[in-house]
Amino acid sequence: MSLRFYNTLTRKKEDFIPIDSKEIKMYSCGPTVYNYPHIGNYRAYIFADILKRVLLYEGFNVKQIMNITDIDDKTILNSQKEGKTLKEFTEFFTEEFFKDLKSLNLLEPSKFTKATDYIDQMVNIIKKLLEKNLAYKSTDNSIYFDIKKFKNYGKLSHLVLEKQKDNASGRIKTDEYEKDNIQDFALWKAWDKKDGDVFWKTDLGKGRPGWHIECSAMSMTNLGEQIDIHTGGVDNIFPHHENEIAQSEGATGKQFVKYWMHNEWVLVDQKKMSKSYNNFYILKDIKDKGISPISYRFWLLMANYRTRINFVWEALEGSDIALKRLYGLYIDLGNDIGKISKEYQQKFKEYIEDDLDTPRALSLLWDLVKDANLSPADKKATILDFDKVLGLDFENVKKEIIPEEIIKLSEEREEVRKNKDFKKSDELRNKINSLGYEIKDSSEGPKISKI
Ligand code: AMP
Ligand code: ZN
Repeated sequence: MSLRFYNTLTRKKEDFIPIDSKEIKMYSCGPTVYNYPHIGNYRAYIFADILKRVLLYEGFNVKQIMNITDIDDKTILNSQKEGKTLKEFTEFFTEEFFKDLKSLNLLEPSKFTKATDYIDQMVNIIKKLLEKNLAYKSTDNSIYFDIKKFKNYGKLSHLVLEKQKDNASGRIKTDEYEKDNIQDFALWKAWDKKDGDVFWKTDLGKGRPGWHIECSAMSMTNLGEQIDIHTGGVDNIFPHHENEIAQSEGATGKQFVKYWMHNEWVLVDQKKMSKSYNNFYILKDIKDKGISPISYRFWLLMANYRTRINFVWEALEGSDIALKRLYGLYIDLGNDIGKISKEYQQKFKEYIEDDLDTPRALSLLWDLVKDANLSPADKKATILDFDKVLGLDFENVKKEIIPEEIIKLSEEREEVRKNKDFKKSDELRNKINSLGYEIKDSSEGPKISKI
């Protein structure tokens, strides 16, 4: 089998054929640093991380750029609210983001790029678009992309083109808007007093870039006019990525991205987790409950990146216990590292090559751990091999992991408690204590720790 990815552009799973097999060029839309990202946002970065790890596992070199949006409507507004300069405000949240990525065990991209470092390159693209008549200046000196002039507008989000374009009655200056509000979008926003001291004086006048041009400039500057893969969450498809295509392909006349890949949402009560619905959690909320960020990563990998998943604490708690159990079983394998099982590796490759099928890869991991026909040392080697892709950090698992025996006793106790057999439940608790562990019952279930 060969690598196959679902391409949003064609809405099909396709064989992955790189532009240049020596190095894959990959761009991942990064965070807008106006606040702490919520854990739904982290699905986008964990998905991009798994994708990159799969490419590395398959033997490719990968050049991955991730941007930091440190200038847009939201960063300006929130920095003003806090009475901070844009720079000091965005730098704080950028650092917090970096810390979170480490705790989620994400590989560092080849480079993080800050939008404010690329203003010149953005101006150059906009000038090209003006020359080609694909952009125009409006009465307030802002510059807009003329979507009716770009024949492929809508190809990514599969808009019913002519009908939508005919309805496109005006222009929109804000960065984010809905599909049914398709309009000419802002490439360059002329300064207005709401922007305060945030502006650049350029050949285009005094102002600041629109959000969409930022990613076109950072991608093309660092990776060239054409790249293999561009990632983001599904809500980036329109308008952000649609507009990136218009700007980049409008300027170069070449196809910008070969494979567009998007992760689905994390939901809460079946509604998208988002700041605007105020139904979000941040990574700190997870850590405050004594749950490791890696358990969140593990929970996400139990679903395919293209399916929506509903976040509930009980499920995360369950995956925390399951991961600890895996860690415990891994520790029990001893210190020797043997040979990677070719048979398991073959299956593992088959699953991850099929559009990153992490749920099947994880169930294979459980099969492997429980397989009585494989030596502990070979199991260990194979787990570490799988973990190059899964990133569950087996390499650094410490000895204080809760042993399998204790987990089993705790599960047994839960069972008898459900049946209201409190005598037996107390006996089991005593047994657990005698083995050096204690159980605390919390609203999210029992928590086991060393005495
Ligand atoms: P933003 O900082 O708002 O640009 O979002 C960062 C990334 O998170 C983008 O790729 C979004 O598509 C993605 N995203 C936003 N909300 C969710 C969610 N609830 N579930 C999964 N991904 C999301
Ligand atoms: Zn972007």
